[in-house]
Amino acid sequence: MNNSKNRIQQWIRNDILSLSAYHVQASTGLTKLDAMENPYTWSDELKSAWLESIKDIEINRYPDPVAQEVVLLLRQTMNIPTDAAVMLGNGSDELIQIMALALSGENRTILAPEPGFVMYKMIAMNSAMKYYAVQLKNDFTLDLPAMLHAIEQTNPALIFLAYPNNPTGNLFAKQDIQQIIQATSGLVIIDEAYHAFTDQSFMSEIMAYDNVLIMRTVSKMGLAGLRLGLLVGAADWILQFDKVRLPYNINVLTQASLKFALQHQHVLDAQTQQICTDRKTMFDALHSFKSLTVYPSATNFLLFRTASGQANRIFNALIQQKILIKNLNGSADALQDCLRVTIGTAEQNRSFIKAISAIL
Ligand SMILES: *Cc1c(COP(=O)(O)O)cnc(C)c1O
Repeated sequence: MNNSKNRIQQWIRNDILSLSAYHVQASTGLTKLDAMENPYTWSDELKSAWLESIKDIEINRYPDPVAQEVVLLLRQTMNIPTDAAVMLGNGSDELIQIMALALSGENRTILAPEPGFVMYKMIAMNSAMKYYAVQLKNDFTLDLPAMLHAIEQTNPALIFLAYPNNPTGNLFAKQDIQQIIQATSGLVIIDEAYHAFTDQSFMSEIMAYDNVLIMRTVSKMGLAGLRLGLLVGAADWILQFDKVRLPYNINVLTQASLKFALQHQHVLDAQTQQICTDRKTMFDALHSFKSLTVYPSATNFLLFRTASGQANRIFNALIQQKILIKNLNGSADALQDCLRVTIGTAEQNRSFIKAISAIL
């Protein structure tokens, strides 16, 4: 028994030994405004119809390995070009992992701007790829010369560009993205996790590129619990990644629930529209506090900077008021004194503004 430590040291890869696991903050009893979830639930009527729709699912059977019906509905609701191929993942996190597995190898690099989505680095690390970060400029726009230089230096297999970006909330300039696409010999993933909150997208032009795929998720549009992401683009790429995907990665409950949800897309659309309206109200409210700097957002969250050295105090005081947001202070130089709040229901937003007003 007490040998396990030695065995672990002997067998677990050194790079894994030195990592720490992804930490999810405890949230029981708190108003959850930390994880970009849609705050709305469904009406009792809708819930009954949903339960009815999953009642006869055969849980003794394996799911449809390609989730054909779900893909068809996604094609319609997301305006996916007919000549584009689609592959589904257990959240877009799994899709990132699938791509990393297929592209990993000695001296293979994943490149991404930072501050950015933490999973790019984490998955690069645990799939034994190199990870190279290029700092965004102070206003969180892309540093194009630095990106082009990094591409030349590292010849990345994979570049991730979140459009809009998390945790900064902004959309990068389309011309900058196009220059990056042209400059690299590798694959560029446009991560449109927040597509529901912006009218900007590469979807309509995706087939014009031979080294670009779009990644989307249903998480931020109100279905985070189902775990479903999609990769869209040229069939040649998708075909290769599909070899690495485990056969039944989208379970029967997810498939049936998604079918139901996508047939009621108007409900989700109304919710995300409301969130966009409330984002404006919340922006104005935060903007009115002199000590805060709020950044423009094309997502369902707002990033803001507190007065120097105040972020931890404000974050903890909010928890005392039973409100959980995300503390980004200390996670990166560019995010010093920064906090991120997800747009909640109008009532949750009011509680948050009232609480932070008292704390400031
Ligand atoms: C939230 C988020 C995702 C995660 O998506 P899942 O489908 O829930 O795994 C991917 N990319 C970005 C930029 C995100 O913010």
